Amino acid sequence: MNLRTPGPIPVPAEVVEAGSAPMINHRGPEFAELIGELHEGLRYAFRTENDVLTLTGSGTSGMEAAVVNHVGPGDRVLVVTVGVFGERFLELVRIYGGDPVHLGFAYGSAADPARIDDALAADPGIRAVLVTHNETSTGVTNPLEEIAQVVRARDRLLIVDAISSLSSIALETDAWGLDVVVSGSQKGWMTAPGLAFVSVSDRAWEAQDRCTTPRMYLDLRRAQRSQEAGQTPWTPAISLMFQLRQALRMLRAEGIEAVWQRHHATAERVRDGLEALGLELYAAEGYRSDTVTAMLPPEGLAADEIRAIARTDYDTVFAGGQASLGGQIIRFGHLGYTTDEDVRGGLEALRGSLAKLGHAVPAAAGG
Ligand SMILES: *Cc1c(COP(=O)(O)O)cnc(C)c1O
Repeated sequence: MNLRTPGPIPVPAEVVEAGSAPMINHRGPEFAELIGELHEGLRYAFRTENDVLTLTGSGTSGMEAAVVNHVGPGDRVLVVTVGVFGERFLELVRIYGGDPVHLGFAYGSAADPARIDDALAADPGIRAVLVTHNETSTGVTNPLEEIAQVVRARDRLLIVDAISSLSSIALETDAWGLDVVVSGSQKGWMTAPGLAFVSVSDRAWEAQDRCTTPRMYLDLRRAQRSQEAGQTPWTPAISLMFQLRQALRMLRAEGIEAVWQRHHATAERVRDGLEALGLELYAAEGYRSDTVTAMLPPEGLAADEIRAIARTDYDTVFAGGQASLGGQIIRFGHLGYTTDEDVRGGLEALRGSLAKLGHAVPAAAGG
């Protein structure tokens, strides 16, 4: 199957195999060595000297950890959204009793750093900014470096959902001054779903010490203390950590900057291929993601019908739209372990599916 969703993505055979190793004691020396190597590898990919904690849970557990450890009851925070995953941060802040100020941008567009600056200038009570780096629901990458500059200059805490960007798209935790950065194993990390990663700056640790929101499983201080002792507070998903160790070795061998470049080149091939098929890309030009591309179906055709044919007739699985985008768009994932063959196959599946629905496709397209 050609799995072209923006997570989970295909996992390399070496990584699958690494995950089948026999169990070890998570309170023993083998585990201490494992978590030590993971921490090194994660810091390398996060471009940080900060602690990076590994949680057993999907990416959303990392988002929830970011909220419960840093946003106290009644704390005013700016939540910047450009799509469904940004709205998840908004929901989390509300559920835990924070006081969110919502700065939403239209789906398909990117967040405007100047408007974030205006919002912060207008409200000195805002303590933190929560933002999505790569909005997987629309295929938009926000200008995170510029956003970070604005937030830094106003001296607020910056919390970033980098679940579908980190390891695939350039992100500099320390150089850009990102306080809390979250990612998840099934995106660019070439690992099965079930682990979340969260980096924490010194400023963020200070904010945690003041934050009174109740927390236990996702308490990052507990995770940090355990990690210093070569452990996790609770029994972790050891098999996934075996997988991740292998994936991180592969990332380091390739070099993180080469990985970013590879993603860009792959994304360009996908975008060019889709435009050659006459398909309109959903995300605004200049902000198109290098990990997932969203497209609109041709006039008169249903997105989900195209996806259904791609799956049954071409064994190729694309993602649909989420929430209000349901049935409106098709999303083509190209993060992590994506080969040229995967891209060609994906484009071919779309070309064939469109043709079967009676849509005239330019002859040279799809290759
Ligand atoms: C996938 C994703 C999530 C959610 O992660 P889960 O692993 O499904 O919990 C959150 N944010 C972004 C940007 C994502 O791409």
